[in-house]
Amino acid sequence: MKRTRILTPEQVARILDRMAYEVLERNRGGKGLVVFGILQKGVAVAEALSTRLAQIEGRDFPVNALDVRPFRDDRPPEAEVEDRSRLHIDTITDRHVLLVDDVLFTGRTVRAALDALLRWGRPRSVQLAVLIDRGHREFPIRADYVGRTVPTKYQERIVVVPEEGLAVYVEEA
Ligand code: 5GP
Ligand code: MG
Repeated sequence: MKRTRILTPEQVARILDRMAYEVLERNRGGKGLVVFGILQKGVAVAEALSTRLAQIEGRDFPVNALDVRPFRDDRPPEAEVEDRSRLHIDTITDRHVLLVDDVLFTGRTVRAALDALLRWGRPRSVQLAVLIDRGHREFPIRADYVGRTVPTKYQERIVVVPEEGLAVYVEEA
């Protein structure tokens, strides 16, 4: 299997800096913003983004972790999936939610994430940030903040490595 690095940790760091400024610009400094990372890798990207939001704004942006598995449409209903979501808040009603994932592909995960989120209230808005948009959407979903658009073949895979500063590789099938 051939693996090619397409983003170094330094490139990812600059991309995340830019995304953090975009988020703050669009949300007037991020007041009322609630950050959710989609488990598993979306949480790692959300943490990296949240660190930058905190450095720029001088206050914390705690990362909530969202488990979307119980809400997926493309899996047979598993017997009692344990919900691994972890929240720092009781409600998202009237808040602006920033949903973060590592890779956007068909859009099914994000669709499930919206269902998962709405259990905790009626948000004022939901915005989506992804490190990599690899195309091949099957639902009408797009990201508000994109780190890098990477045209891929359907059977290729993007690999994001948190242990390597979120370095990004493409793997041929
Ligand atoms: P989707 O639901 O949009 O088809 O896929 C997005 C979800 O599946 C994300 O949570 C992402 O982590 C994972 N995913 C889909 N394709 C890839 C890929 O090529 N590489 C990685 N690392 N994750 C992917
Ligand atoms: Mg995922």
